[in-house]
Amino acid sequence: METELTQLRHSAGEMPAEKLLSWCFETFGSRVAIASSFGAEDVVLIDMASRVAPDLRVFTLDTGRLHQETYEIMDEINERYGIAVEVCFPDKRRLGAMAHKHGHNLFYRDISLRQLCCKVRKMEPLKAKMSELDAWVCGLRQEQSVTRNSICKIEGDHANGLFKINPLMDWSHQDVWDYIKKHKVPYNKLHDKGFPSIGCAPCTRPVGMCEEVRAGRWWWEDPEKKECGLHAHATSK
Ligand code: SF4
Repeated sequence: METELTQLRHSAGEMPAEKLLSWCFETFGSRVAIASSFGAEDVVLIDMASRVAPDLRVFTLDTGRLHQETYEIMDEINERYGIAVEVCFPDKRRLGAMAHKHGHNLFYRDISLRQLCCKVRKMEPLKAKMSELDAWVCGLRQEQSVTRNSICKIEGDHANGLFKINPLMDWSHQDVWDYIKKHKVPYNKLHDKGFPSIGCAPCTRPVGMCEEVRAGRWWWEDPEKKECGLHAHATSK
């Protein structure tokens, strides 16, 4: 994977977002998909990709604990772009066993229980989706948090055995919103209610003016550890 990663970075690692997306869909065809939690960066990627890849694939993880506003934007995106977002659900038996053993709100009690919930509701469905893909596209940006400041545009996702593409890696918050306004992209109404980062309802709160973008995610935990595991294994250097 390292040799191929070096070659891919040589070909496309410096491309601006739209060109990188175009290259990505040409290179990987139906074996690449945009991962969306329907935050601002994700709708930018979907809008941009719809201009260069009419057959784009988008998938999302429906953890069963999302906000109503997130389901609304999901429907709106399907309608606007004429796509059918691929929805990945957790395994019902795993959910049942977890709730039976630890309760429905286990995430607040202990970091290991929070990670268990993320594993069952996000990581395991993601792993199943990854088996269909050679690469996935994410809306990660370096300035979002301390856990993301070393990401690259093209990374090796060794845990899943595929490549991860971050076209908006060097975009600012302002760049994202300028694009949304310029292209009249539909966006998640949670952003108007003080949520800069979109996640599950019990684990995401609005943030104040001076707080960092992801401060509202698992706000009771140490900032150095605030990832759900989806973006924890890529090779960025
Ligand atoms: Fe569970 Fe919260 Fe993780 Fe969602 S973000 S999967 S509710 S722990």
